[in-house]
Amino acid sequence: MTNDYVMTINGAAVASELMIDVVNPATGQVFAQAPDCSTAQLDEAVDAAREAFKMWRKVPIEDRQALVRKAGDLLIKHAPELSRLFTQEQGRPVDAAELEISGAGSWMHAVSQMTPPVHVSEDSATQFVETRYVPLGVICAISPWNFPVSLAMWKAAPALVAGNTMVLKPSPFTPLCTLRIGQLFSDIFPPGVFNVISGGDALGPMMTAHPGFAKISFTGSSATGKRVMETAAKDLKRITLELGGNDAAIVMPDVDLDEVAEKIFFGAFFNTSQICVATKRLYVHDSIYDDLRDRLVAIAQRTKVGDGSEQGTSLGPIQNERQYRRVLELLEDARNTNLTLLQGGEIPNNGGYFIPLTIVDNPPESARVVQEEAFGPILPMLRFTEIEDVIERANNSEYGLAGAVWSKDTGKAMEIARRIETGTVWINQNLMLRPDTVFGGHKHSGLGVENGMEGLLEYMAPQAVYLARS
Ligand code: NAD
Repeated sequence: MTNDYVMTINGAAVASELMIDVVNPATGQVFAQAPDCSTAQLDEAVDAAREAFKMWRKVPIEDRQALVRKAGDLLIKHAPELSRLFTQEQGRPVDAAELEISGAGSWMHAVSQMTPPVHVSEDSATQFVETRYVPLGVICAISPWNFPVSLAMWKAAPALVAGNTMVLKPSPFTPLCTLRIGQLFSDIFPPGVFNVISGGDALGPMMTAHPGFAKISFTGSSATGKRVMETAAKDLKRITLELGGNDAAIVMPDVDLDEVAEKIFFGAFFNTSQICVATKRLYVHDSIYDDLRDRLVAIAQRTKVGDGSEQGTSLGPIQNERQYRRVLELLEDARNTNLTLLQGGEIPNNGGYFIPLTIVDNPPESARVVQEEAFGPILPMLRFTEIEDVIERANNSEYGLAGAVWSKDTGKAMEIARRIETGTVWINQNLMLRPDTVFGGHKHSGLGVENGMEGLLEYMAPQAVYLARS
């Protein structure tokens, strides 16, 4: 078992007295341990970040951008070796793991080219008035286990470009790659600018309650997001919350199923459906419903689910036991309520957290599997005939993260897309996100945004400067 993982606090490698176990979800076995950060170590990290902020905010933005770019280079360089560790802790097959890590590096490159604007409202003989943006201070960054590297870098890159410093905490289920990245980046950023700590369930609440943070950037479930917001209110910390979703996709009768079936399948099942913006409710026009259902079941049957470290595996296990139990419970509920479950092929029977790829055949709207975010490979497929009806059903959710429309009539699809009450809508594609385009949830799916210029500015505060000229 490996237990040489360390935190990065004030540029130094820091071990801890207590450790947390890290489980390989493909086997259910503990394979490594990570530090369990103490209260004193959290204080140390926040103090170091506060001290470093005084210096980092004065570093010219071009130099901060250059360092973020170098950090991106380092991620790309180390992606092949980190990807094996990623697969062990997260479960996703190695090739796709490598893509996440190198993709996060490229994302950092793109963010490193962004510069906050300065707006001039008046530049006259009597007045000069500008609005500029200033950094906030120390950012508390908390990330989830489904995309552990990219979602952490979505926070680090803009926060550091903006002139903030950061203490980042990965999920207790997937701490290892992030800890390694903390060490790699300690060669790039001055001590205290980018700190990485890890710990068990107690550490997140300890961080959000810590008075030394200026802002919390949180990605995780809506339930936890609400607790984060409550805690942040005590000292009015700024917050960005990227939370859960129950995304609907609407498939119109004119689609070419040869063209779209595979894309729709992977939009629902990629990463074993553990994606905030995966298709989680698939509304299909009655006239093509049976055909698409049979095709999706056939794809499920030929998709290899297994240990991501084995060649030929397309989809890995559920990432952790807690989530595995939750998905099993939803499956059980579907069986108990006599829903029709159509399942994919074999899954390994070795103690790993594997669930067969499951399509639920036209359940009622009220079924739990339709109403709740499963965050696992159970896709409810629902029939519709009337467009007004399906738009209403798609929007009838407390969530509002993303959605998709599939149709050859792109004009009509645009019209439908604009009526979907979510932060992102895709037409004839899915899972597409860009560093220069805003991403955020409506309703219970979040507060604030990441990415794009709006995402960068969430790490800054506007400051209006008035100069009297005469
Ligand atoms: P989670 O809410 O259980 O945990 C997320 C992080 O919060 C972890 O690091 C955890 O240790 C920490 N945490 C737990 N309790 C806390 C508390 N009381 N205070 C502060 N921190 C706390 O979420 P998860 O299970 O890791 O992730 C899955 C969820 O995340 C899904 O709902 C998914 O849709 C959502 N998600 C959203 C986005 C997005 O961008 N909108 C992206 C990925 C995942």
